Amino acid sequence: MNALSAMPIPIQVISENKRNLLDLDRKGLAEFFVSIGEKPFRAQQIFKWVHQRGITDFALMTDLSKALRERLPSLCEIKAPEIAKEQCSLDGTRKWLLRLDSGNYIETVFIPEKKRGTLCVSSQVGCALNCTFCSTATQGFNRNLTVSEIIGQVWQAVMRLRAIGEDKECTVTNVVMMGMGEPLLNFEPVNIALAIMRDELAYALPRRRVTLSTSGIVPNIDRLSREADVSLAVSLHAPNDLLRNVLVPINKKYPISVLMDACRRFAMDKPGRHITMEYVMLQGVNDKPEHARQLIKILQGVPCKVNLIPFNPFKGASYQRSLKEDIEVFRSIVVKGGFITTVRKTRGEDIDAACGQLVGQIIDRTKRNARFVAKIADTEEIRSESYA
Ligand code: SF4
Repeated sequence: MNALSAMPIPIQVISENKRNLLDLDRKGLAEFFVSIGEKPFRAQQIFKWVHQRGITDFALMTDLSKALRERLPSLCEIKAPEIAKEQCSLDGTRKWLLRLDSGNYIETVFIPEKKRGTLCVSSQVGCALNCTFCSTATQGFNRNLTVSEIIGQVWQAVMRLRAIGEDKECTVTNVVMMGMGEPLLNFEPVNIALAIMRDELAYALPRRRVTLSTSGIVPNIDRLSREADVSLAVSLHAPNDLLRNVLVPINKKYPISVLMDACRRFAMDKPGRHITMEYVMLQGVNDKPEHARQLIKILQGVPCKVNLIPFNPFKGASYQRSLKEDIEVFRSIVVKGGFITTVRKTRGEDIDAACGQLVGQIIDRTKRNARFVAKIADTEEIRSESYA
């Protein structure tokens, strides 16, 4: 070996192609450091600096050697999506609009409660599915989010809440992947982001406090069961295929019986796993006592609880929120059927941050948004004609 070959191999990285270290879980980070001729334990140091202390400037990472601190900026960066706008609801809910590349924006919502703070995280720019009660669906779809754009939402929220610092209790204790997009259609990046959320050197969130919500992408529920250790929520919303085909059209591909089998497998795979069935309450559509009885039937043998969500209207929506008394009748039937059933408290409605209301700003590649806007315009024209 000559003196030249003993020197660390210089890696030429063009500045625009710098590796964003926020894209990597601990294992990926260790591999990165090995690839640049460094020891893998550097991953642990960087992980703590970034995710626990919120430091993104290598110069401040004092337990790295001076030489490494000076070298890293030419190879990599730590970059989360920037907060473009923050809105705070009267009830304390915060919504952040986060700027991505090329004109796309996503939304992330923080919901503080007495003893916990839940962050609702997006997984895609828009959504390719077309659930008919969902505001995100009307925006169309642009692309999947990267790991740094997903975990960057958690990073931004934690750091922002820390910066506001009015209330030390006000922090992220729970994450729900229930924002914009279908997380199981963006499996790999979501899976890595979930691992970072759970990692003890990052956010150290317990399994019960990280929940992925899916509309029912059955093969990837099985994959999630094998590869991640998180809780599951299912956007069920209807107790029979006829109705679910309309409300959640992916049901035509993965009907209720197939979906329920996947949920049973998910629960059996690791005992103590939690499944929540999400059920939006739409007046006169899915909120009748017979629907509650059908729901009990299809849930037999699925260890789960039921969460009833009063519908949050948005401009152009075709549905109304169920009446309080109808929700209560529905709830009591499902409880009698043996399922713990809660009614979700609507939060952040005054800033359009409530469940199903997230829209961001999307360069739509599906033309769905244009069709939706045209439909609203038509309806308004018809209305104004009939008032004339
Ligand atoms: S409910 Fe979820 S899966 Fe369905 S369109 Fe909205 S964001 Fe997509």
